[in-house]
Amino acid sequence: MKKINLKIGTLSVLVSLCTFSVSADTLLIHAGKMLVGVEQAVKQQQTIVIKNDKITAIEAGYLTKEQLNLTDATIIDLKNQMVLPGLIDMHVHLTFERDTKRNPHQWLTEYEADDALRSLKYLKRTVDAGFTSVRDLGSRYQVIFPLKRAIERGDIPGPRIFAAGDMITPTGGHADMHGYRRDVSQAIGGGLGVCNGADDCTRAVRDVIKSGADVIKITATGGVLSNTAAGVNQQFTDDELTAIVNTAHHLGRPVTAHAHGTEGIKAALRAGVDSIEHGSFLDIDTVKLFKKQDAYLIPTLLAGATVKQEVLENPNMPKAIADKVEFVAPKMEASFKLALKNKVKIAFGTDSGVSKHGDNAKEFELLVNYGMTPKEAIKSATVEAAKLLGQSEHLGDLSVGKQADIISVNMNVLDNISELRNVRFVMKGGDVLKQ
Ligand SMILES: [Zn+2]
Repeated sequence: MKKINLKIGTLSVLVSLCTFSVSADTLLIHAGKMLVGVEQAVKQQQTIVIKNDKITAIEAGYLTKEQLNLTDATIIDLKNQMVLPGLIDMHVHLTFERDTKRNPHQWLTEYEADDALRSLKYLKRTVDAGFTSVRDLGSRYQVIFPLKRAIERGDIPGPRIFAAGDMITPTGGHADMHGYRRDVSQAIGGGLGVCNGADDCTRAVRDVIKSGADVIKITATGGVLSNTAAGVNQQFTDDELTAIVNTAHHLGRPVTAHAHGTEGIKAALRAGVDSIEHGSFLDIDTVKLFKKQDAYLIPTLLAGATVKQEVLENPNMPKAIADKVEFVAPKMEASFKLALKNKVKIAFGTDSGVSKHGDNAKEFELLVNYGMTPKEAIKSATVEAAKLLGQSEHLGDLSVGKQADIISVNMNVLDNISELRNVRFVMKGGDVLKQ
């Protein structure tokens, strides 16, 4: 990342000179309003001290460099802003975006680099929207890992990525290749994660972790957007699920399960997965099982709303997919409400890639429309998401010692959650990415 010495001018001038990032050894943010963490009241007129990548002090009032004895520091003026922790999206797919007009033969003509290069704009849109950390839950050709490393080196702008890489799926399962002749599908393949039987699924988990996975993503049930009329029920056997979860946990990786159908959700929870993605068909027994297993739900309401809209607008949607949309999408709202009412742990996730990258904050509006308070919705994308990532020590709030992942908006988001769609300032690990 291009580091620019800010002592020679004002921040705003230098931001425009710089390709995407501004860093200095010490930065001071003067914040008009500040939400340190969702458990605390909003503070007024604060000074945040950032050294390198971390928050090192928070002081009441707008303190000067001299008062802090930090004469080399650079001041960032956010006096007319509300400052809050960087947002975390627990379910994105940064290497693709659904495009109904795309060339249907794309799968057969492109190289891995096409996926990677197309992703650059998605990475930027995501971090510009205030999402400083994401969990990428499925990409092809291990492309997500070099992207993650390029961001960490500072070569390209983007969020901090926790990646699954290849999804673990049975042959013909939701994350396998569909819709082509068998020999063509096999040539393109479903990647390292296609497995059958407990032993082979153990092999698949190990292979995916060897390729770089931080988290294991499995398709425990059928899915909506795979072109196969296979429903949304359980797809792995109980033995396969147990083998996957045990192998991943032995290697220190959490497991998250794509799951729609009730019995498939239950089977995944019984096997010990750490979280369920979508969770479209919940009943009270399933909700109890979530609590017994201390598992999280990632509701992805935006994905449901997006595909529901697409059915209305896209006459070319394959019938196998359109039928599943009609079946699943209307159930997501009621299931989310049941989970919320029964205090299931909920973390924020959009399934962006199904929806447009950068529109992630639309999920907040759905969460609030369906019954969460704005505070609970923000908590799901900060404190709770950090917990599920195993990163509570570093991420999730703006206390001293945490990563300097800081965003700002014009108004109090606790009064108007939609304000999160207009993030004005983004800092990730002490680097200013949007000003
Ligand atoms: Zn997904």
